[in-house]
Amino acid sequence: MSILERARSVMPGGVNSPVRAFGAVGGNPPFIASAIGSKVTDESGNEYIDYIGSWGPALLGHAHPEIVSAVKQAAEKGLSFGAATKAEVEIAELIISLVPNIEMVRLCSSGTEAAMSAVKLARGFSGKDKIIKFEGCYHGHFESMLVSAGSGAMTYGISGSAGVTDGAAKDTISVPYNSVELLQEAFSRNKGEIAAVIIEPLAANMGLVKPKDGYLQAISQLAKENGSLLIFDEVITGFRLGLGGAQDFYNIDADIVVMGKIIGGGMPVGCYGARAEIMQFVSPLGPVYQAGTLSGNPVAVAAGYAQLSHLKSRPSIYADISQKAGRLFGELSDLAEGHGASVVWEGSLGCLFFSDDLPYDYESAKLCDTQRFASWHAHMLASGIYLPPSQFEAIFVSAAHSDEDISTTISKAKEFFS
Ligand SMILES: *Cc1c(COP(=O)(O)O)cnc(C)c1O
Repeated sequence: MSILERARSVMPGGVNSPVRAFGAVGGNPPFIASAIGSKVTDESGNEYIDYIGSWGPALLGHAHPEIVSAVKQAAEKGLSFGAATKAEVEIAELIISLVPNIEMVRLCSSGTEAAMSAVKLARGFSGKDKIIKFEGCYHGHFESMLVSAGSGAMTYGISGSAGVTDGAAKDTISVPYNSVELLQEAFSRNKGEIAAVIIEPLAANMGLVKPKDGYLQAISQLAKENGSLLIFDEVITGFRLGLGGAQDFYNIDADIVVMGKIIGGGMPVGCYGARAEIMQFVSPLGPVYQAGTLSGNPVAVAAGYAQLSHLKSRPSIYADISQKAGRLFGELSDLAEGHGASVVWEGSLGCLFFSDDLPYDYESAKLCDTQRFASWHAHMLASGIYLPPSQFEAIFVSAAHSDEDISTTISKAKEFFS
């Protein structure tokens, strides 16, 4: 029996996270045996240039020696204590020193957990129930955010999710991304009832969709006028758009910031942070209960701390990655032109959409030719390039991608477009 057959008999779809199953592109997903730098190797020994980067965490590439060594050292001192550690204090101080507008953080073990807790905190702090989210943005798989969600839910055409009760969904208002008018309308229809607006400031779970000029400013303004908190879900953008994340990049202040992915260096870490006035509502200081047996796990935190300190000590790394990514996406864009495809990018994130015009929201993204995306994906995979297996996921470039990796990728893309 193949590994895939074994996997399918013991796990739904053979996977522990839906997009990994290749359901949208067909073909069989490779089972990854190891990864180093920009490359992943599957169980059959095939090597690929990887543009998933563990869906974001691997900003420095896979198995970065400083991170691996930090993990080994931490592991030898014990895997988990269920008690306070110095390592947690150090990563909290580091995050707070780099990310604007947060004076305190709470660590947890995933982006979902962090976003779920941030939403609960916003409700607890404001005493209001309703949350505005945006169609095509993904904030993890908890009930109230699985309304018009991006990522795997979009890949598989699930606009809601079974198992989400009307009760859980009724306080979520979902509005189209990039429309100030419809957001304004949502606020006026729910006067005084909106606890928070949660957004991916750069939407990276419906492919990649940039905020229009002035859009984030307008959201921030409307939230303020209506006495609602602004939650930035920076699980992807945090430490990717720069050390200060999207808040710095777009020069917008958020009230609560949600992070994950990069801050764990490849290990399970999530966190949410805000000014002290808000964080004081979190248990044990305040009434919003949130906990975790493995929260702030010493081995996970060691990985995150190593990655963040590496970035802090070499801030020029962002310009270097962006330059490499710019060459990749710029050349892909030239190749795509006139072939029913278009490319968008920001820093180290990009997306090749099979549509003539770049999508600006969920509905326009859904118009892409996903059949053609599937053949593009299959061609690239067969050529040794491992791309996200969905039209609605971003391409992640890391510090480990070499100029040669980029050139190889471009030449394989050329074959596809000719
Ligand atoms: C990945 C992601 C999440 C969920 O994080 P998990 O660690 O997968 O639970 C939440 N928000 C955004 C923007 C993400 O990209």
